[in-house]
Amino acid sequence: MSDLEFGAFYFDGRSSRAHPVRVRFDGRRLRVAGEGVSLEPLIEHCRVNPPLGQARRVIRLPEEGRLETDDRQAVERLEARLGLNRGLTWVHRLEAQWRLVVACMAGLVLFSWAFVRWGLPFLAAQAAFATPVAVTEPISRQALKVLDEQFLEPSKLPPARRRELEAAFARVAGDVGGGYSYRLEFRSSPKLGPNAFALPSGVVVFTDGLVHLAQDDRELVGVMAHEVGHVIHRHSLRQLYQGLGVFVMVSILVGDVTSVTSLGASLPAVLVNNGYSRGFELEADRTAGAYLLRHYGTTRPLQNVLHRLAQAHDASLPDLLSTHPATPERMERLRRMEEGTGNGKR
Ligand SMILES: [Zn+2]
Repeated sequence: MSDLEFGAFYFDGRSSRAHPVRVRFDGRRLRVAGEGVSLEPLIEHCRVNPPLGQARRVIRLPEEGRLETDDRQAVERLEARLGLNRGLTWVHRLEAQWRLVVACMAGLVLFSWAFVRWGLPFLAAQAAFATPVAVTEPISRQALKVLDEQFLEPSKLPPARRRELEAAFARVAGDVGGGYSYRLEFRSSPKLGPNAFALPSGVVVFTDGLVHLAQDDRELVGVMAHEVGHVIHRHSLRQLYQGLGVFVMVSILVGDVTSVTSLGASLPAVLVNNGYSRGFELEADRTAGAYLLRHYGTTRPLQNVLHRLAQAHDASLPDLLSTHPATPERMERLRRMEEGTGNGKR
């Protein structure tokens, strides 16, 4: 191993005079040489003081003498050879290398952001698809109860009209499938206006306003297929789990019953206030577009009803169908599905 050499100041411990010296470590002794100074203490009789911020490094020599040096790297190499102050050196380096500290912080922030952006939706999807259909029943019941109390009133649609639409819904549900307890419910809702939403168990609610808004039952079939799309892709549970976070997902998966009830109570906020993410709406539109193409050879009925919904809704109203993403983008994608110039996917 080569000798280690560095410049330092020697203090004899009696006067405050600093003697410039060269220090050489040969593996056994520190050889300290300068004007009027010549010392060769054994290294085991010397002590390297722990580093203190940006202060000069200090090596205590036998008797009262000491060396001070600005050559921190040399002292660190010396310590490395002696196996001294390793932990402290690491702390000191962290302290000194603020860039590393900042980089660690930035890494942590980036990790958290990436977790929220991708990790959480991924976990939420896993949890949503792992949630047994039987568990979605009490969640949906509780959610509908809250919605009935806060936003919905009994429907005024004539029973014959309801039966017609229920039959159409049964065809859509049977075609799209997925093993859910599908059921179409009607409600009047001056608060929500023309609207529709799907509960995770397969219950789809149409407002009277939506039924009146449609000019053609194929438009309502398009909305049914869109809502069934939300059911089979488990969008409401995914959105709910994403919003509530990992803790709730775990308690659902381990079968915590109180969480199931509180989930049901939180679901209306997802459906009525927050709405779905852009990706979820587009995915439900793809399910609906595919159904319409199979049965009518066109996606136009859904485009038409989306357009009319956008016109009917005040922008400030909670909006389940048309605000997010923007209706023109959704119509354009449905048009492209029909033209076969794209399958609606990106
Ligand atoms: Zn939707």
